[in-house]
Amino acid sequence: NGTLYVVATPIGNVADISLRALAVLARADLICAEDTRVTGQLLTRYGIQSKLVSVREHNERTMADKVCNWLAEGQLVAQVSDAGTPAVSDPGARLVAAVRAAGHPVCAIPGACAAVTALAASGVTTAEWLFHGFLPPKRGARCKQLESWRDAHYAVVLYEAPHRVAECAADIAVTLGESRLVTLARELTKTFETVRTLPAGELAQWIASDSNQQRGECVLIIDAAPPSAAETAIDAQAEHTLRVLLAELP
Ligand code: SAM
Repeated sequence: NGTLYVVATPIGNVADISLRALAVLARADLICAEDTRVTGQLLTRYGIQSKLVSVREHNERTMADKVCNWLAEGQLVAQVSDAGTPAVSDPGARLVAAVRAAGHPVCAIPGACAAVTALAASGVTTAEWLFHGFLPPKRGARCKQLESWRDAHYAVVLYEAPHRVAECAADIAVTLGESRLVTLARELTKTFETVRTLPAGELAQWIASDSNQQRGECVLIIDAAPPSAAETAIDAQAEHTLRVLLAELP
C-alpha cells in the first residue's frame, strides 16, 4: 500500500525546505502539484525529476480517485501547493480526506507557512490566535467579519492580496479603532521582507502613503483587544483584596 505525503514547500526563500521534504519529493512516483510550472522550478533547483501531475481545486475530486488507485498499486504519491503548507488557504484538504477515507496512509511533512512565520516575527504575546486566512473581498462583508473581533482576547491572522492591503488596513482602523495594534508582515523570507507593528490608524496611513507596501505577499495580524475597563477594574479590585490579605498574613 502506498502513502500520500503532504509536503510543505518554501514561501519565498528556496532554501526553506526540509531535508525530509526533498528526500520524499525525490522518491515520489508522482507529485500532485497546484501549478506544475511553479513546482517544476523548485524541483529543477534541487535536481529532482519525479513526475508532476496537476491537482487543482476544480479537479481535486476526480483526481482523488486516481490518486487512490495509484496508492492501491503501492505508489508513493506526494502532494504540494504553490507555496507553503498545503490546505492552509490552499487546495489539498479534499484530496487528503478522500485518501484517508479510502484507508490509505497519509503523512504530512512540516515546513514553511506564512501565518506561522508572520506570527513568529510579530512579537504578538497572546497565547491564543486565530487563523482566518483571506477576508471577503467585498467591503460590507469584510467589515462585518472584522467587527466580530472587536473584543477578541486572541490575535487574528489574515492573508491579504497586495492590491487590497491598504483598503483592508483602513477597514481595520474603522471597525476596530485607530489604536488597535496591527502587524504587517510582507514578503517574508524574501529580499524585501518587512515586518512592522503600528496602531491600526498609523499602519493604514503608512501603507496608503507608500506604494511599496502594496506590493508582494502579505499577512496582517490583528492584536487581541486591550482589556476592557470592566476587566481592568476587576483586576484592580482583586489586587486590592490581595494586598489586604497579605497585610494580615504572619
Ligand atoms: N499555503 C500557504 C501557507 O502555508 O502560508 C498560503 C497560500 S495562500 C494562497 C497565499 C497567501 O499567503 C498570500 O496571499 C499571502 O497572504 C500569504 N503569503 C504567502 N507567502 C508569503 C510571504 N512570503 N510573505 C507574506 N505572506 C505570504
